[in-house]
Amino acid sequence: MLKIKLHWQILIALALAVLFGYFIPSGVKYVSWMGVLFLRALKMVIVPLILSSIISGVTSMGGGKNLGRLGLKTMTYYISTSTLAILTGLLLVNIIRPGVGVELGFTETVEGLSEKSASLYDVVMRIIPENIFESMVNADILPIIFFAILFGAFISQVDNKYSTFLTDFFNAVFEVMMKVTMFIIKFTPLGIFGIVAREVARNAEQLANLAGSLAIYMITVFLALGIHAFINLPILLKFVGKVNPVKHMKNMATPLLTAFSTASSSATLPLTMEAVEHKSGVSNKITSFTLPLGATVNMDGTALYECVAAMFIAQVYGIELTILQQLIIVVTALLASIGAAGIPMAGLVMLTVILTAANLPLEGIGLILAVDLILDMSRTTLNVWSDSCGAVIIAKSEGEELNV
Ligand code: ASP
Repeated sequence: MLKIKLHWQILIALALAVLFGYFIPSGVKYVSWMGVLFLRALKMVIVPLILSSIISGVTSMGGGKNLGRLGLKTMTYYISTSTLAILTGLLLVNIIRPGVGVELGFTETVEGLSEKSASLYDVVMRIIPENIFESMVNADILPIIFFAILFGAFISQVDNKYSTFLTDFFNAVFEVMMKVTMFIIKFTPLGIFGIVAREVARNAEQLANLAGSLAIYMITVFLALGIHAFINLPILLKFVGKVNPVKHMKNMATPLLTAFSTASSSATLPLTMEAVEHKSGVSNKITSFTLPLGATVNMDGTALYECVAAMFIAQVYGIELTILQQLIIVVTALLASIGAAGIPMAGLVMLTVILTAANLPLEGIGLILAVDLILDMSRTTLNVWSDSCGAVIIAKSEGEELNV
């Protein structure tokens, strides 16, 4: 049988889905079930995969000292790359000034958005779960990570008899979950076809907007995302990680295309873990720690987008921002990207936090709603790309031999 590489299959599926959704929107109901099933399958593996992967990763780390060092490196990477992304966005939005001269008048109303926006305080507090099972039921990733790290770290503290059993047990669960993930990955082209055809059919009218006054805003976001993805992060890969960025990007083709199609870093997480571990050759110890954390905490694309969107809104409303206000946007964009969940449109919801902090009109969100889907897909791709680069750079700094 003709064997086409998976990422080519996905690309073909993506192209066909766009054509299908655009030209035969009435036929979408016959294919959208494939997307629904694919997303359900991915969500099905997330909780057991994260739990077993982190526990087995932490137990193989041996000792809290290693864990602390890895934690510090990971957080340093997350915060510095997200800040770099925000500054890239800030620079471009100040040069291009996409909001200057845009007519107000096509504002859509956004109801209930402010109730949905979680305060940062809540997000931080919720890292410690009241009830770990409730967190698992809700697939609330941060508390699951917290519990898994704690559980894994204390496995080494109990009697040898128990610790060997638990280590073996969670390693075994992890191996099986990885196999299940690899099985699901085979269906990615079909799943993506279903998801994208439906989204294209649903948003076909709004495609007209893309050419309108929002075009320059979108181009600004795309350019900034592109600079961070193709210049900033590859430079880090090359000079800090001392690896081949092109090779790593090729290895990541499947998760990146999936991130683009699903607009969810969390749903993509199983595929990201599989690719970083099996293709780029990073150990489970590092992937299990950095990637689940990265999927919710490290969002370079979201951080960059929030900064550009807030600045755009200020420009449209003719509000001149002082340096201090711009600084507030930078800091809150960083915090909001950390607090945003890895699900579609989370970034848009978190934008309310920034607008409130910088004293900008919340209705501004209505302006950018029409083009949020395509920007969400793009920023999610960068989010996942940055997570994977982080895993590689940290693995190299720990002296691992990789395939990139
Ligand atoms: N959809 C993004 C993600 O899952 C979050 C966002 O809306 O910016 O990474």
